[in-house]
Amino acid sequence: MQRYYKIVLWSLGCVILWLLIQFPLQQVLPNYKAIPQPFAGQTIVLDPGHGGPDGGAKGSNNLDEKNITLEVAKLIRHYLEQAGAVVYLTREDDRDLANKDTKGLSRRKSEDIRNRLAFIKEKEADLFLTIHLNAIPNPRWSGSQTFFYPSFTENKLLAESIQTELIANMKNTDRTPLQIDTVYLLKHAEVPGALVELGFLSNEQERALLEKTSYQKKLAASVYQGMLQFTLEESQ
Ligand SMILES: [Zn+2]
Repeated sequence: MQRYYKIVLWSLGCVILWLLIQFPLQQVLPNYKAIPQPFAGQTIVLDPGHGGPDGGAKGSNNLDEKNITLEVAKLIRHYLEQAGAVVYLTREDDRDLANKDTKGLSRRKSEDIRNRLAFIKEKEADLFLTIHLNAIPNPRWSGSQTFFYPSFTENKLLAESIQTELIANMKNTDRTPLQIDTVYLLKHAEVPGALVELGFLSNEQERALLEKTSYQKKLAASVYQGMLQFTLEESQ
């Protein structure tokens, strides 16, 4: 309830501020149009999977899962910030979130994932996305896919919105959003969120695409569009 009142008060403040700014600007500039800010007042955490000693799935050209998730997260951040969101990335560069003295990859990995969860809480996020890439031994699998854990009703809606946009824009995936019960972050986060698997590094053709900036931009734009649709529907 407290959060609800905070949002209402904040929105009211925004409307008043908008009216105050809007009126004089429209007088000065007849062609002035207010830029809509659909994510105004929202804090979003983007979590680029892996990092540092944990490279995630292997790619080529020194580009592993950890590099591509970071690039795409930064691109999504750009779109969200343009739309008024406050965005935090769990990492800005090639590192994990374990403490520097922790030894051993598996110990680092469990500390890392706990710290990612703590990060979402600490930033008081309204929404989060964890971003990964898939790899399985069978090279025939391909296509991006969004996953959710049903701890909040919003989670499924968010995953559906993102997946709908990925299907429509990427034109190389017909995967449906799927419930997953084994992802620590999705299970334990106290705010709505989803996991986006951007594609399969184990598929040679898709790997070549995933390593291209133009393809990464298209993925990021699609994920953003999905988040936007979700937010617009939620605010109705
Ligand atoms: Zn991963």
